[in-house]
Parts: sequence; structure tokens; C-alpha cells
Amino acid sequence: MNYRHEFHAGNFADVVKHVTLSRIIAHLRAKPGAFRVIDTHAGAGLYDLAGPQASRTNEWRDGIARLLGADLTTEVRELLSPYLDAVAAYNPAGTLTLTRYPGSPMLVRAWLRPADRLIACELEPAAAAALAANLTGRRAKALTIDGWTAASAYVPPKERRGLVLIDPPFEAADDFTQLAAALNEAWRKWATGIYLLWYPIKDRLGPDALAKRLAKLRIGKILRAEVLVTRPTDPSRLNGCGLIIVNPPWKLEAELAVLLPALVACLQQGSGSFRLEWLARES
Ligand code: SAM
Repeated sequence: MNYRHEFHAGNFADVVKHVTLSRIIAHLRAKPGAFRVIDTHAGAGLYDLAGPQASRTNEWRDGIARLLGADLTTEVRELLSPYLDAVAAYNPAGTLTLTRYPGSPMLVRAWLRPADRLIACELEPAAAAALAANLTGRRAKALTIDGWTAASAYVPPKERRGLVLIDPPFEAADDFTQLAAALNEAWRKWATGIYLLWYPIKDRLGPDALAKRLAKLRIGKILRAEVLVTRPTDPSRLNGCGLIIVNPPWKLEAELAVLLPALVACLQQGSGSFRLEWLARES
């Protein structure tokens, strides 16, 4: 486990993932019933943007910093407001300077209501210790366990509503395969849950193979959203990222149709583009 999210926190891929996460939670919050979020690869939770790792790559400057400086329409700004408000809440009030970026567990914790719950899993010892220190409070629990096991071990949750976020580091060659396998196992136990899976786009091989594997699972509703910040001509770099959303809330597709072009306009590093399509859509 060499991956350290500190180098990448707040980059374009985090922005795309966390904006989508924020909209899913907004829909879960729209109904009174309590929900549970299971974050299988949670990371440390909170990242120092002035720290040595983030300063070495400065990836956040082409991610969250660009979004904060963008000229956005009222519609886009309203859809982004839960996300931007949560990022602002972890930074000094009344300034435009970003000093910290909240990862998925801290963002989710900010959106929980009193009866909602979060389970956040992290296996790398330093990140797990940081997560446990950051993720205080009764509603959220940090666990030092294998996220691939956690994906199916904690479903269905007793609330019977909620989301499983699977966001592995993709340092192992078989992470694309494991992603489909973990989803399959969890979905067989909890077919009505929402699942959000993240993957990198360097070239098309992994993403296209994943789509083929997912098609064989016979899951009823799978939405795929992809953002490329540049043309994928150099497979050694992160050219974009993709999201698989199983059982998306019904307004999410329409919201992403508004948000993705706005995100491409602000995050592209050359010729950016997006894709939003159903991989499976039961009638
Ligand atoms: N979800 C986080 C966010 O959006 O802020 C970022 C997570 S980062 C992409 C992936 C994390 O998974 C890393 O912190 C890594 O240490 C952790 N990890 C790697 N293998 C794991 C495993 N088998 N189980 C749980 N966590 C793991």
C-alpha cells in the first residue's frame, strides 16, 4: 500500500467524485428516513493543502481551486452549494484561501442528520490513524479494516437506505476486476442500495473492460459518468475519471447533465469532454 491521497486531495478527480457524492446525499436527505453511508476506502479524511505532499504536486490548484474561482451559473452554483459549503466549513471563515481539503468521510459526516450514520474504512496504518483522529462524533465510525471485505460485510444496513462508496487507490493491477466483484457481492445482498464506484481513466482498456463486466452482472440500473480533462493520448497520466452509479436517485442524471459540462469547462487542461450514459436501465 504505497498510495497516499495527500498528494492528490482536491484534484479534478476528487472534485468530480465529491460533487456527485454531494448530490446523492442531497437526495437521500430529501426523505425523512435515516440512511447509512459505507465508505470502503476512506483515506485520512482531512488534508493539509500547504503540507509537503499537497505542495509537491499542487494538484488541488487544478481542481478545487479552479472550481472556487470559476464563473458559474446560478443553477450550477445551487447544485454545488452542499459541496462548496462543506469545503468552506473546513477552511478559515471569510477568506478565499484554502488551507484544508475534506475527503469523502469528512464531507459525508458534514451532511449527516442526527439519525444518519457513516462507516468509514481505511487499511493503511497512518491514514487509518489520521482518520480515527479526524472522524470524531457519535454518528461516524472509523474502522481499520479491508474495504473490499467491508463492501459486502455491512450490507444491508439496518436503515435499509443509503450508499456504498467504493474508491480504491488503483495501485493493484486487478483493482478494476475487484471493483466489479465487490459490487456484485454487495449488490446480491442489498439490491436496493445506491453504489458509487470511482475509477481512473488513463486509457480505455480498464474502463471498457469494467463496463463489459458490469453488463454481465444483470444489475437493473447503472449510470456511468466520465470526465476527461484532456484527450487520452498519453496513457501514463490521469486523463480523466469515471463514476459508476448503481440505483442512482431519479433526479441525479438530470443534475449531472447540468454539472458535468460545467465541471469540464472549469477543470479541463486542454480539450476536455464528458460522457453520461446508462450501462443498464431496466424498464
Ligand atoms: N475516498 C477518499 C476520498 O474521496 O477522500 C479517497 C480514498 S483514496 C483514493 C484510497 C484509499 O484507500 C487510500 O487511503 C488507501 O490507503 C486506502 N486503501 C488501500 N487499500 C485498502 C483496502 N484494502 N481497504 C481499505 N482501504 C484501503
